[in-house]
Amino acid sequence: MSETDRRDIGQLGLDEALRLVTEAAPPPVAEAVALGEALGRVLAGEARARVDQPPFDKSAMDGFAHASALPSPAGPWRVTGLSAARAGKSERSALGSGECVRIMTGAMVPPGTAGVQRVEWTESLGTDGGEGNELVRFTQAEKWDNIIRRGENQREGELLLSPRILGPQDIGLLASSGYAEVAVTRRTRVAVISTGDELAAPGAALQEGAIYDSNGPQLAAQALACGCEASFLGRVRDDEDSLALAFAEALDGFDVLLVSGGVSMGDFDHVPRALSRAGIERIFHGLAIRPGKPLFFGTRRPGGRAAARAGAAAFGLPGNPVSTFVGFELLVRAHLAARSGLRWAPRFVGARLSALLERKEGDRAQFSPALLGTGPDGLPSVRPLEYGGSSMLSALADADCLITMAPGVLRLEEGRIVNARLVRP
Ligand code: AMP
Ligand code: MG
Repeated sequence: MSETDRRDIGQLGLDEALRLVTEAAPPPVAEAVALGEALGRVLAGEARARVDQPPFDKSAMDGFAHASALPSPAGPWRVTGLSAARAGKSERSALGSGECVRIMTGAMVPPGTAGVQRVEWTESLGTDGGEGNELVRFTQAEKWDNIIRRGENQREGELLLSPRILGPQDIGLLASSGYAEVAVTRRTRVAVISTGDELAAPGAALQEGAIYDSNGPQLAAQALACGCEASFLGRVRDDEDSLALAFAEALDGFDVLLVSGGVSMGDFDHVPRALSRAGIERIFHGLAIRPGKPLFFGTRRPGGRAAARAGAAAFGLPGNPVSTFVGFELLVRAHLAARSGLRWAPRFVGARLSALLERKEGDRAQFSPALLGTGPDGLPSVRPLEYGGSSMLSALADADCLITMAPGVLRLEEGRIVNARLVRP
């Protein structure tokens, strides 16, 4: 690597890097899916109510619908019909004086209904002699009319949902408004390539000096967990020509390429140059974060000769497994969210540090794996995990959050409240 290349690795701040990866995302493309397929997908644009909710005046109680202007005087009331919550089973003739209709929760109230008396506050007086109608008495006055008015929850045309990852309750809301299909954003197609002569496929025999490729499966899983389509394209040796070829092919067929390894300043770190040969223009290389400093980000060079797909982007993540994971969490995730049309922000929990966290150098923002729990006071606490550097994947597997030390901060005292950044769903 030449001296120029070495100086080229910068120390960009995380906020600036986040802005760049977010801005680089092309606008999402919408597609319609059946509601049953929409769980976990991102709603494209706003969804508006298609009907009034509820669609008719309905009873909030099992009881008797009556026409009294006063709050349910005792009666006796003559029961002249039944309104049940079944389409076509509602009483449609108007209530006469002294009449009431037996009604079920959710059923349409008859015309002229002033209120519904709950069944618990009624008493049967047997049947009247003439037409054989049941007679009832109301034992307590209702405070409210117990009617849910048409359109009380929503009026047709009102905003139902804004862009979000659709959860079960959103699907319920859309269904209640008559949606059989919903417009969601197309899944981003992510390709993953691991680089390094030392890498062996999990499952293969391990030769001396070799390690299993854990970043490939991990990155593909992270992309999948973000709602993307993820394809692992394999392991490529530390050879610039082979890398450039593999990258060009990947960029031809996918929206985002995630490469692990080969982005630092070692003699075999050919990834940035190989990405450039594959049509990627560097946006940044090097961040003021630990772990993850040599992270590379670039987008398809406009009008470049290489076949990279319009709007394609590539991340080069440092190969140490914790660096790879953290780099994805901090930056790739924000880029993928922007591509799917989401304004994403990390989720934090304020928690009390259960042990001192300190470091020797404060030049970069540091992210340390930690585990949330409950302190003796019953409030959230967070314990930094024993962590021997960025190759220690086991510390990360035990963690459910990351604690940030901002640049310049060398100590976070035990007992202090910190923002723990969640890294598990
Ligand atoms: P590199 O970023 O290529 O210099 O790699 C840094 C360290 O991470 C080296 O110790 C590599 O062996 C290790 N490493 C690189 N790629 C992977 C991978 N795909 N899976 C697990 N460890 C890796
Ligand atoms: Mg390497």
